[in-house]
Amino acid sequence: MSDSSPPLGNAQARVDLAAVRSNVVALRGHAGAAEVMAVVKADAYGHGMVPVARAAIAGGATWLGAAVLEEALGLRAAGIGPDDARVLCWLIAPGADLEPAVAADVDLSANAVWAVEQVAAAAESAGRTARLHLKIDSGLGRGGATAADWDDLVAAALKEQAAGRVQVVGIWSHLACSDEPGHPSIAAQVEAFTAAVRAAERAGVRPEVRHLANSAAVVNLPETHFDLVRPGIAAYGFSPIPELGDSAHFGLRPAMTLAARLLLTKAVPAGQGVSYGHTYVTDRPTRLGIVPIGYADGIPRTASSRGPMLVGGRRVAIAGRVCMDQVVLDLGDLDVAAGDEVLVFGPGDRGEPTVQEWADTIGTITYEVVTGIGARIPRVYTGA
Ligand SMILES: *Cc1c(COP(=O)(O)O)cnc(C)c1O
Repeated sequence: MSDSSPPLGNAQARVDLAAVRSNVVALRGHAGAAEVMAVVKADAYGHGMVPVARAAIAGGATWLGAAVLEEALGLRAAGIGPDDARVLCWLIAPGADLEPAVAADVDLSANAVWAVEQVAAAAESAGRTARLHLKIDSGLGRGGATAADWDDLVAAALKEQAAGRVQVVGIWSHLACSDEPGHPSIAAQVEAFTAAVRAAERAGVRPEVRHLANSAAVVNLPETHFDLVRPGIAAYGFSPIPELGDSAHFGLRPAMTLAARLLLTKAVPAGQGVSYGHTYVTDRPTRLGIVPIGYADGIPRTASSRGPMLVGGRRVAIAGRVCMDQVVLDLGDLDVAAGDEVLVFGPGDRGEPTVQEWADTIGTITYEVVTGIGARIPRVYTGA
């Protein structure tokens, strides 16, 4: 995309909104008849919540997923209305003020009877019916009501529904091992989820949507799709099951490119200790390059002497410790100068490392790499 982007200062994260859009189109293809909720929590996994939400809607997402109230309200405040997308918010603290969310037509989730009552009280003061999703713990062992508590949760919701304060529109759950094809918990969770839906329906719930699948399940477990799927990582273009295939294998394209500039290059002799602790020492006369991005920006300190970057067309690992705001590269004979661009990661087209490579190098998952990119790095959008 050739949109005019702000010039590269110290560093920037370029987010390709056309990639987000086409990833959501691809996920709709995987999802069959189910609708798509683009999960845009955590500032859209570091990509920037509102621009990404709009791109996801343009790609056909009819729902947006938010973990916390501030995110859900931020989507509505940005002008994304209920006709553009339903918004579901699922982490509700005891005592949280839910009235603004009900007033803004945000769907809320309840794990427990007290949460149903809290949503109902907010609906009472907002003067409108709250849309409620009931969450069953089908086996993840995290949020959701246990099977033992499920009937009480359903009964509490139906009581508030009869009083006009809530409408139970969803029943949902979350998978533990959707990225491990063949894991026995998958079938067990589908079974437990189906049983919970059946019990709720017998009690009188008529849900608009039953939803269970995250990204890995969207692309690989059609039996989990039900009425609505909730992809996050795949919408940003990362493979949800790296063992099965890369992004392209699933029709996805990584949306984020992290670029920085060489701030300084300089010649040093052999034997020069580099960065804190001198854990790296030059083994020949060489040139060092200073890159203004560090652990405060999401380059973890565990990437010291390991994290890959692309500079002057060549892959170079970080030399020595990652500092708070800077890293050092040993440039050798590379023909580069202060001001030249360094690519930390991107889709890989130009030979730059991918986020998956970064994740593998430092022993984590793509999710943690992209959500870690700090607020100090400006997000720049292309492809809108
Ligand atoms: C984060 C999250 C998702 C998205 O998961 P991905 O693996 O990124 O697709 C879906 N549902 C819930 C409840 C989540 O917390």
